[in-house]
Amino acid sequence: MPAPCDILLTCDVLMTQDPARSVIEDAAVAITGGVVTAVGPRVEMESSSAPKSRLDLGPCLVMPGLINAHTHVSMTLLRGLADDLPLMEWLTKNIFPVEQKLTPELVRLGALLGCAEMLRTGTTCFCDMYLMESAVAEAVHQAGIRARVGEVIFAFPSPAYPDLDGALDVARNLERRWKDDSRLRTAVMPHAVYTTNPALLERSFALAEELDVPLHMHLAESASETAQCLEQTGQRPVAYLNSLGLLGPRTLAAHCVDLTDGEIQLLADSGTCISHCPESNMKLASGFCPAQKLLDAGAKLGIGTDGACSNNNLNMFTEMGTTALVQKVHRMDPTVLCAQTVLDMATLGGAACLHWPELGSIQPGKVADLIALDLTRPNMLPMYNPASHAVYATNGGEVRLTMVEGEVLYQDGVYSRLDYPALLSEIQDAARWVRKQL
Ligand SMILES: [Zn+2]
Repeated sequence: MPAPCDILLTCDVLMTQDPARSVIEDAAVAITGGVVTAVGPRVEMESSSAPKSRLDLGPCLVMPGLINAHTHVSMTLLRGLADDLPLMEWLTKNIFPVEQKLTPELVRLGALLGCAEMLRTGTTCFCDMYLMESAVAEAVHQAGIRARVGEVIFAFPSPAYPDLDGALDVARNLERRWKDDSRLRTAVMPHAVYTTNPALLERSFALAEELDVPLHMHLAESASETAQCLEQTGQRPVAYLNSLGLLGPRTLAAHCVDLTDGEIQLLADSGTCISHCPESNMKLASGFCPAQKLLDAGAKLGIGTDGACSNNNLNMFTEMGTTALVQKVHRMDPTVLCAQTVLDMATLGGAACLHWPELGSIQPGKVADLIALDLTRPNMLPMYNPASHAVYATNGGEVRLTMVEGEVLYQDGVYSRLDYPALLSEIQDAARWVRKQL
């Protein structure tokens, strides 16, 4: 008896990212209730499945959706507002002053634009830290994409809260609001060592434990952060966090650029997860994250774009290419961070960093978060190794379809849940507001 399923998806090539890293030609994926129920050769699957609907994609490479392990999605509104400046000057003189005047509606609009960009370039899940994050969560819910979201917590007032108690309440309410949603999860997100204090960090971690959610923050992003931390605490950032009890599997640290060998081992041994953001690190001239050394030490790494002001896009395909290339030239060794390793970081690594083990591969029991790349594009021909193409040949424009939890959210230029022309016009209005703030 053929097994019933909601959708039978067929394609020329399926890159599963399963434990054997199986690639199946002329393949099919059966999906029911948003979950992958079977994967295999099309001919076998067609005789063993009784689908309610079919999605015949033809000359496409179907692969797991990419996971953006660190971003500030609403910063799309400020894309290109200020470039080519050092991190602290860029942040304190250009970004923070505009951000202090943002409204929930502007945050929601920027988030919708970011979700649209990510869906179009093959990202199905992201980890987001921003002000007024409840507005980001509303945008995520509208767009249908998947995300782990958190209110950024500073030691100074933000438009979302007057003080630390208020900030922790915002984090608690965000978790309460979304805890039963299958596509939204939360985290507690203190900003960085240089914008917080020990009590804030300890209370943030205690709340993360109480809610049983991850803690996410920027860490060891630049030498100037290290110098400032040494001056204020007598310790380097990683040692400082360790002394406060914040390192461990619950913690996802973004950047981790300025590290000693001992700190690399400490991050790995403690099980701390790391979001590697190479384009942001390059643009702000922060330095090189020792990604291969961290992997060799046993650390879990995902890849993030960071916000659209320090990148300036949310494109995980180009970020994967950069991840591989920059590490090779940093180490002067072309064998480090091979294509399969980088693809693993952007899929399974991201799933581990976001504490979302149902993501990252296409195999029975995992949720159906997947994308299809057009294999008829000149830059995709010929194809001997799909992982190589995903990392080195693809630019994101090849994405023909993006599916989250079995729902098609983007296909061939059309968003199923977003009114893109209306969004464009709202973004133009928001940009006029941003210009007036300068
Ligand atoms: Zn960031």
